[in-house]
Amino acid sequence: MSLPEQILAIQNGALDHLSTVDTTQELEDWRVQYLSRKGELAAAISRLADLTPEERRSAGQAANHAKAALHDALSAKSADLKAVAQRDSALDVTLPGIAPVVGGLHLTRQTLYEITRIFMGMGFKVFETNEVESDEYNFGLLNLPPDHPARDMWDTMYVSDDVVLRTHTSPGQIRAMRHFNPEPLRVILPGKCHRYEAVDASHESMFYQVEGLAVGEGITLASLKGVFEAFTQQMFGADRRVRFRGSYFPFTEPSVEIDITCNCLGAGCAVCKGTGWLEVSGGGMVHPTVLRNGGYDPDIVSGFAFGMGVERNAMLRHGIDDIRHVYANDLRFLKQFT
Ligand SMILES: [Zn+2]
Repeated sequence: MSLPEQILAIQNGALDHLSTVDTTQELEDWRVQYLSRKGELAAAISRLADLTPEERRSAGQAANHAKAALHDALSAKSADLKAVAQRDSALDVTLPGIAPVVGGLHLTRQTLYEITRIFMGMGFKVFETNEVESDEYNFGLLNLPPDHPARDMWDTMYVSDDVVLRTHTSPGQIRAMRHFNPEPLRVILPGKCHRYEAVDASHESMFYQVEGLAVGEGITLASLKGVFEAFTQQMFGADRRVRFRGSYFPFTEPSVEIDITCNCLGAGCAVCKGTGWLEVSGGGMVHPTVLRNGGYDPDIVSGFAFGMGVERNAMLRHGIDDIRHVYANDLRFLKQFT
């Protein structure tokens, strides 16, 4: 084999060998074997001296070519190994993972869903209506004409002279009745309400209500009591009782405040202020004028209605003492319920 052929054989052998190299130590060994001063290529080049000038020229070219090819291959391999090392060090599969943050339903939403589930079990439909209401629906059609003194009960946020952010879910009663009449109806009306209110432990300027409404023949105050007791026992516990106290609302006649027995079951505690009872809702029989405004004949049908605060339900269920926690967006508080 001539010297140029030997040099080419060294070059090819070295490149084959390089393809099996996969550590930096192996690469260094490879460099020493082929490219160092005592390496195979240097040994071949040292034999150039024995050749004739013509032979020396072609062998010299082959040697330069081989040297350049092997140096290029060395740089490329070195870069490859470096990239692999960087990639491997970026992912340490033995480290414990970082748990992703999993969201959950807000306390108010959970409570709303629970209330909805219970009433749907009793055949109530969910009927959602406007959060921005006309003065007429929020007050007028509910038997609260502009000069009615009971309007003072609501601190209202006005969008314009005759448009308001609804102060209660009751305007939904008119919308539901106008939608369903003359058929009997059983609906709950959940939603956000707004009042221009000084915020304290039991008042927020934005809160959720659920209104209940049933209209049909033969509905009495006893129907309301039965429905509310069934709700209370599913929401708060089978040992809970319900009582009515006489009250006044312009859109119900007669009107009642609805109380349930406290956690302490009548013994008296700080939550019930020693009375053994908790106020959870207002309600009554739908006023004949309101029935008429909804398109029903009060001589034929009657109805009951009630309205309650969703946050109040949540607070009573979980023993929360301040409504401001509910919307303060403090995860330490909210995470307790997810
Ligand atoms: Zn109590």
